Amino acid sequence: MKVLVINAGSSSLKYQLYNMTDESVLAKGRVERIGMDSSILVHEPTGGEEYNTVSEILDHTIAIRRVLESLTDEKHGVMKSVDEIDAVGHRVVQGAESFKESVLVDKDVKKEIRRLFDLAPLHNPAHIMGIEAVELNMPDVPQVVVFDTAFHQTMPEKAYLYAIPKVLYKKHKVRRYGFHGTSHYYVSLAAAEYLKRPLKELKVITCHIGNGGSLTAVKDGISVDTSMGMTPLEGLIMGTRSGDLDPAIVPYVMNKEELSIGEVNFMLNKHSGLMAISGSSSDMREITDAMAEGDANSTLAFEMFEYRLRKYIGSYVAAMDGVDVIVFTAGIGENSAIVREKVCENLTYLGVKLDPELNKIRSGDPRRISTPDSKVEVLVVPTNEELVIARDTYKLIQK
Ligand code: AMP
Repeated sequence: MKVLVINAGSSSLKYQLYNMTDESVLAKGRVERIGMDSSILVHEPTGGEEYNTVSEILDHTIAIRRVLESLTDEKHGVMKSVDEIDAVGHRVVQGAESFKESVLVDKDVKKEIRRLFDLAPLHNPAHIMGIEAVELNMPDVPQVVVFDTAFHQTMPEKAYLYAIPKVLYKKHKVRRYGFHGTSHYYVSLAAAEYLKRPLKELKVITCHIGNGGSLTAVKDGISVDTSMGMTPLEGLIMGTRSGDLDPAIVPYVMNKEELSIGEVNFMLNKHSGLMAISGSSSDMREITDAMAEGDANSTLAFEMFEYRLRKYIGSYVAAMDGVDVIVFTAGIGENSAIVREKVCENLTYLGVKLDPELNKIRSGDPRRISTPDSKVEVLVVPTNEELVIARDTYKLIQK
């Protein structure tokens, strides 16, 4: 039983082919610069050599065709025929209140994802292109959609409503949705499995910190609060996103700088965050390297990033009246020992004690980085959103 997982963006597409018998990855890869000249396909068969091709890939349909050709290529392929693929699972960013769990794709599901374009203009249209490209290439293969927002649909009203006129929620569905749900779900479950304790009995704070970042408070096994909002702009300071700010800044800056709605949106999403404060990079590796060399702006960017993250952890301790486990995941969470160290250094009031040696170890497996006498377990758990998508897809086609 083979499942192809697709994450389609507007000009890129990532894929992973799973053998669901043992959940192994047979191959993965990506197509970049779709619709531009010199599109690139990078194909990595597990255990084999990486294989790159540059060609003209005009749209997602051709991109999927190239992916299928790579998967069945005589030299670099991992299967004989496309017919071996039993189902395709897609990541979809915004499912809003319409999708509380993963579903099989049909006409109505596509219509609903389209209806949500307004809430995710950069993402949902690309996901639909991915789904229709698969339809054109493999018309008989069932497809499943897995939503970034679904895990957070359990948030109570007091956590998801904004304190603005309720008519805006009723008419336009202005509310907090939260994102990275597949990752928060996966790492909270993996943390409980690692600790050999039922997730339902734990209060967990999951810190998904990569280029984009969000925290989730997981209580009784469900998301009760999360730091991203109606869009992925709210919450933490991110690579190029501002995270929380006084909403009155938006009209003020638009007025003073004569910015349009599009321009201010672009500024907050693409020219803010670590990039804006450091003045040099949105990449945590470069920020910490520059900080080690004494660069004042990078040091400030790091401090602001860590401070916001720590304040959110504190607020989720308050939200859940306690915490048993703090989980770090994604690019920064899994790899940056100094971010984890600085955050935990100032959580002593919670009884958090980090083991500096364990914190330095690199591994692809879940691991504990707190000391045995720490009152809170601190774990690093590598995320695996693709595996959740593959599992949900497999489960749904079994039905
Ligand atoms: P992601 O969006 O999950 O791929 O994460 C990207 C972020 O992870 C970038 O800010 C990277 O600088 C950061 N990152 C990746 N590897 C490391 C590392 N070894 N040390 C520090 N940050 C890292």
